[in-house]
Amino acid sequence: MEQLSLEGMPRRLYACTPTRLSTWLDCPRRYRMTYLDRPAPPKGPPWAHNSLGASVHNALAGWWRLPRANRTVAAAGDLLEQGWLTDGFADPDQSQAHRQRCRQQVQQYVAALDPAIEPAGVERTVSTRTELIAVSGRIDRLDDRRADQGGSGQPSDLVVVDYKTGRHEPTVDDARSSLALALYALAAGWVLRRPCRRVELHHVPTGRVAAWEHTPESLDRQLRRAELIAAECADADERYHAAATGGAPADDAFPPRPGPGCGWCDYRARCPEGSAAAPRRAAWDALGPADDDASAPGPGVDQLA
Ligand code: SF4
Repeated sequence: MEQLSLEGMPRRLYACTPTRLSTWLDCPRRYRMTYLDRPAPPKGPPWAHNSLGASVHNALAGWWRLPRANRTVAAAGDLLEQGWLTDGFADPDQSQAHRQRCRQQVQQYVAALDPAIEPAGVERTVSTRTELIAVSGRIDRLDDRRADQGGSGQPSDLVVVDYKTGRHEPTVDDARSSLALALYALAAGWVLRRPCRRVELHHVPTGRVAAWEHTPESLDRQLRRAELIAAECADADERYHAAATGGAPADDAFPPRPGPGCGWCDYRARCPEGSAAAPRRAAWDALGPADDDASAPGPGVDQLA
């Protein structure tokens, strides 16, 4: 049942994920087609970079779930190959070339890890709430750095680790400004009742890490920002549902945000403004050449705190 929007009346708690909020910021029309239109509009064909990203994420998650003695470098490569997803690639040759490259990257990445240090979570769902929002999301990896700090027994920061598999190497500013990472940190701290302020973007192709150490104040700022975005979403949702039951049309609550990114949008074919803004990209365009030497820089950590 929809809540009445009476002035002064408290809003119903808005349940969301960081992805939902960022979709709203990117393009309200895409938000509507993703989260509100039912039946859901058909998407375009699958993207090869999504298949590649999911394959790498699954392999790394599977590696941590192996018994400790089996967490070898070769095992990570084997998991990658066994779970390789082929949707979106131009042909089997292209898929195989990228599979081999990703096997190397995943192996290089896990070679720099200590398999004996158990993460606090792998693909762990966490959630938290305020008086206005209930936010949940799944963290690629949640590290417990207490284990490699000499075992002092003192509670230390948990660390949110987010894997990146694209060609773009994330920066410290990406880690600092990420709403999703900040919300994950807050939710992890809430669920585990321990401080969680450090967030890291791990670029699997290069092994490089972009890290940011939040303060309680910077996390709170991100939470307030999430509440403001969620309030906009809640207003638009209410207008959408009111229109569906005979109220005023709500199209202007979901304006398109056409731009170069429309070439990658799953709903471009259903969006005249987006279709005019950018040609549809080929399903494998984001991959780059399979012999791209993205791993050249080698592992390292970029950090500002
Ligand atoms: S094509 Fe562009 S403007 Fe249209 S819904 Fe997608 S992102 Fe928004």
